[in-house]
Amino acid sequence: MKFNKIVLASFAFAFSSFASAQAYPTKPITMIVPFAAGGPTDTVARTVGAIMSKSLGQTVLIENAGGAGGNIGIEKVAKASPDGYNILLMHIGISTSASLYRNLRYSAVNDLEPIGLVTTVPMTMIANKDFPPNNMKEMIAYVKANKDKVSYANAGVGAASHLCGMLFMSAIQTDVLTVPYKGTAPAMTDLLGGQVNFMCDQSTNTTSQIKGGKVKVYGVTSKVRVASLPDVPTMDEAGFKGFEVGIWHGMWAPKATPKPIIDKLNAALNDALNSDDLKKKFADLGTAPEPVERRKPDVLRAFLPAEIAKWGPIIKQAGVYAD
Ligand code: ASP
Repeated sequence: MKFNKIVLASFAFAFSSFASAQAYPTKPITMIVPFAAGGPTDTVARTVGAIMSKSLGQTVLIENAGGAGGNIGIEKVAKASPDGYNILLMHIGISTSASLYRNLRYSAVNDLEPIGLVTTVPMTMIANKDFPPNNMKEMIAYVKANKDKVSYANAGVGAASHLCGMLFMSAIQTDVLTVPYKGTAPAMTDLLGGQVNFMCDQSTNTTSQIKGGKVKVYGVTSKVRVASLPDVPTMDEAGFKGFEVGIWHGMWAPKATPKPIIDKLNAALNDALNSDDLKKKFADLGTAPEPVERRKPDVLRAFLPAEIAKWGPIIKQAGVYAD
């Protein structure tokens, strides 16, 4: 009798979560961006989220939860209820943080359910327009000669700007003062104001400043030049042989989110990435939708551990970590 009650109760529970997965979404969805509003990750999220809202028939609200290089926002989603109403848009930093932090309170692989890859954005090395060096060669010489007075902005340990700066400093074997922000939107404000000298940031934040002549630019981290910034050399062309890093962005839900909900979110993500409006906006910002075959949840499921394994030894060699 008792057994039957348990069986009935679990059947009722399974049926109600199946029914709510079928009806999903019945209210607005919160997309957590683990960096400040107005920055590059936020721009990607808002562009994608606006079109996903139309496909899903519910608003995708953006919540900015910056701090600790993105890890505060990631943890928030990792610990949220797996009902599809809290999702995460984060980038490559989710894989570098796994090695950079000794005490993360979540597991990117075990606590999150992949929805799909979104875009891979190049980075640009930029500086305040009064910063003396005019090209990468001068930049390296200047930074080496003035390492005690030069400052580098980033969005905290684990951010893409942190990764790019770490690779740059380790390549020129010179450490400079790093100034962490909750995102590169506030970092950009300080860079324009001259409170900090230079940073490396996604083209989704820097393209308009570069085009408007508001900052100096030294190179782009993609293999080939970016169509919207044809005059900016690749880092390789600028003298950094093989310096290539693409900031891939992915979308996740909390672990155990039902598959029908993940499928609906993935379909809406694909609708967004297929839209001409998004393609145009992304192209103007120096990026493009992830190729179709890379947008499936299982691709991201396999890709994340591979990225964690790839960056681990590089980070260990750089000797950088955070608590
Ligand atoms: N893109 C920045 C970074 O990872 C953070 C941000 O989006 O503000 O450095």
